[in-house]
Amino acid sequence: MNDYMGKVPGQFFAFNIWNIESARAVMDAAAALRCNVILQTSVKSFALLDREELRWFVTRYMKKHDIQVYLHLDHAQKTEIIAEAIANGWDSVMVDASDRPLEENIGLTNEVCAMAEKSGVLVEAEIGAVGKTRDEIDIREAGIATIEDIKRFVKSTRIDLLAAAIGTSHGSYHESPQIHYDLIEETGRITDVPLVVHGGTGLGDETLLRLLSYPNIKKINISTDVKLAYRNGILECIQGGYMEEEDFNPLKVTKLIHDSIENMVAKKLRLLRI
Ligand SMILES: [Zn+2]
Repeated sequence: MNDYMGKVPGQFFAFNIWNIESARAVMDAAAALRCNVILQTSVKSFALLDREELRWFVTRYMKKHDIQVYLHLDHAQKTEIIAEAIANGWDSVMVDASDRPLEENIGLTNEVCAMAEKSGVLVEAEIGAVGKTRDEIDIREAGIATIEDIKRFVKSTRIDLLAAAIGTSHGSYHESPQIHYDLIEETGRITDVPLVVHGGTGLGDETLLRLLSYPNIKKINISTDVKLAYRNGILECIQGGYMEEEDFNPLKVTKLIHDSIENMVAKKLRLLRI
């Protein structure tokens, strides 16, 4: 099952989820569109959720609906957490040692590769620094990965996926990001290791389609948009007066929140078919 790189062709969106309900909303969109999808958990969510329950739920869902759904651990800095994700049946893990010097990043990444290989779990690593949208522009520019470092990194590790900082950021953009498309192209020329784009929230359809036009982009991460869709669902409930109704119906509230996430996810997944 742990074969979304190489063996499963195509490109993926990865959506951050934090519980069974958010996982269900993302998978419902994927099932309706007959699309494979990646669900990812932040380290914070991973710490709080019932891992066994989520693993079981996702496995049952994909069998029932005949789609592939992969569970991924996002931005982990500690090997202990990564070991837990592997033990709990996550399909892939991201080791993020991008704040360390290159050699240390390589060292920790290799440690994780050795841990993951035994279980057939895929490894994503980060190079450069994908900032947050509230960072200053010059900090973001400084964090862009260099082709020399990318070359050294992929030669020195056995990673399955590379999150190279190409100019996107986490959070919501206040201005259009300067994406280094040349770096995507150059990376494709020097290595078969596919790229992951972090900070997919707020990138317009045109930008997302342009990114997807590069065959070496395998995964685009969407986190903030899932949270915003969840919030919009709640706001709709409030604005629709559902919270004030005398015969308050939690099913209506749950459905609006679910549908808000499902619709956002469907919009992104449709881009894979254009
Ligand atoms: Zn990220």
